[in-house]
Amino acid sequence: MNTYELRKSVGTILVSPHPDDVAFSVGGTILTTLLPRPFLIVSLFTRSAYAPYHAGNHDPDTVSLIREKEDMAFAQSTGSHLVRLNFRDSALNVGTREGKFPLLFLSTLLYKWPRPESPFERNLTRISSKGPPMLKHRLILEAARFDRRYRLLEAAISKLLHKHQDAVLISPLGLGCHPDHLLASRACKRLGHLADKVYYYEDLPYARRYSIEGIAKHARGLDRKLRPLRVDISGLVESKTRNLLLYRSQVSSDHVMETKEHTARLGNGAWFEELWTY
Ligand SMILES: [Zn+2]
Repeated sequence: MNTYELRKSVGTILVSPHPDDVAFSVGGTILTTLLPRPFLIVSLFTRSAYAPYHAGNHDPDTVSLIREKEDMAFAQSTGSHLVRLNFRDSALNVGTREGKFPLLFLSTLLYKWPRPESPFERNLTRISSKGPPMLKHRLILEAARFDRRYRLLEAAISKLLHKHQDAVLISPLGLGCHPDHLLASRACKRLGHLADKVYYYEDLPYARRYSIEGIAKHARGLDRKLRPLRVDISGLVESKTRNLLLYRSQVSSDHVMETKEHTARLGNGAWFEELWTY
């Protein structure tokens, strides 16, 4: 575990499957007074070769270091502590047969990501990807617990929740059904009883591709007691965007636009981020 010294107790633990997810999804909310400070951002899958807007080498050592610097700059800008857990992201596991089963294999069949490789996979994918969205989501959430990273991930988040006993927990909802986001969402749901309160955020930019009703369906599929809480971030959008662009190896102008469009469509002339809680 790559841990930065925590000098104070923590009010809110923000779970970020990848460096940048907190910035995308709750980058406005953390600039309001809703969540108790100090903040601890926990970046989970930090071992990565994914950096589409980085022009140089794309080996995992180079990319992981670039993303670490971006993560640190974001933490500093928002006055947050940062812990990076150094799990391999799913994209790195695609090439390894061991890493592909069962979660990534199921994700290929249901969502066509990672891309099907063999004719056998392509045939199965044609049939299975047409299933009802909520059924697909449930299947993949179940498969998450067999992923070899899951047990370690849950143990690491559990340890942090035990260390910071009255902390609020902020988790991804898992919109977009990225396997890494679903692993995080499942772990946070199972560990929610250790937190003072749990809020689930709408994973951006994926959330923009859902209807408002589709998001509600997804949230209630995860836990039918969840209700939306809209956080007014009008006046904070430019600060949020500035912080988001610190992740310059990851974020395009299209992503920024999708993120802004989503926060604008939630309000009537105002800008909102939406959390789900009870
Ligand atoms: Zn992510």
